[in-house]
Amino acid sequence: MTDLTQWMDKLESEQEAEIDDTPNEVPMPTNNDLPGACRVQSPSSILTHRQCPRKYYYRYIERLPGGKSIHLVRGVVVHKVLEDIYDVDFSQVPSDSFLSSLKYVLQEAFLKEWTKASDQLAELDMSPEQIDEYRDESKLMVDNFYHHIYDRMLPLLETMSAHEAWKQLTPEREIQMQSPQNLVRGFIDVVENFDGKAAIIDYKTSKKLQITEDYKLQLGIYAMMHEELRKPADEVGILFLKHGQELRIPVTPELVENARTVCTHVQLHTKSTNPGDYPMRTSPLCKWRSGQCEYYELCFEGESVPEYKGRMNLKR
Ligand code: SF4
Repeated sequence: MTDLTQWMDKLESEQEAEIDDTPNEVPMPTNNDLPGACRVQSPSSILTHRQCPRKYYYRYIERLPGGKSIHLVRGVVVHKVLEDIYDVDFSQVPSDSFLSSLKYVLQEAFLKEWTKASDQLAELDMSPEQIDEYRDESKLMVDNFYHHIYDRMLPLLETMSAHEAWKQLTPEREIQMQSPQNLVRGFIDVVENFDGKAAIIDYKTSKKLQITEDYKLQLGIYAMMHEELRKPADEVGILFLKHGQELRIPVTPELVENARTVCTHVQLHTKSTNPGDYPMRTSPLCKWRSGQCEYYELCFEGESVPEYKGRMNLKR
């Protein structure tokens, strides 16, 4: 799950630049309540349709990707570091230096991934100083992740070794989930299974320390998929990397039912390939102080789809 295209969806719905696969023409079994040529959706495509149906049309029907952004590249780097850290072999590290080694490895892994992304960073319309600022901020997010893990390991260290504590805290990562009933598929960053309880956690690099309605819907869709494929989850939450803080909410029947209702609504409104069936929903997300929707020119400046493709240098 480190491919840029997959990451584009997930990172954009964080309103910074949001993983999931794009909706495809149906390979999952169809649901009798959703007749016709339904598409397999993702949490991101559902959020996109909620935000603006026309944006959904451009991204998932016309398949017009937006350009790369620093938020997208940074998101890929940080998520990769946090995903891979649990695969590092710490077995030879003495228990009393486990935490310092963990910190060191995280920092080294970050620098390595950031360097690997240098070609993508160079393509961005940003000065080296601006890119360095994002590097430092992203490195801080990885440090915040370390402190989050540190805080969770400390109480465990009173009764077990660092290696045992680390093993206990190691979650499942990047789990592909799907809802055959609702034709939704996506990747979950983390599922923790402790004491017989399941908690679904998503990593966010966004500034706002708040489980917004959109995040709640995304978490509800994850809970719905988890319930259909495995068992009902107990909690869902977000680890806000910029703040190093995790916020959780309980999984309630209402949370899951709302996700189902929204998924059904989006399915029923995305059968058409006619742009007229995807109205523009103007909002501050069309244009803001430091940026604009990638399809702004198409909506407001008379640009045609072929012109957009030419400008983005796309080949179909
Ligand atoms: S510019 Fe506004 S109306 Fe157009 S696709 Fe983007 S969000 Fe929708």
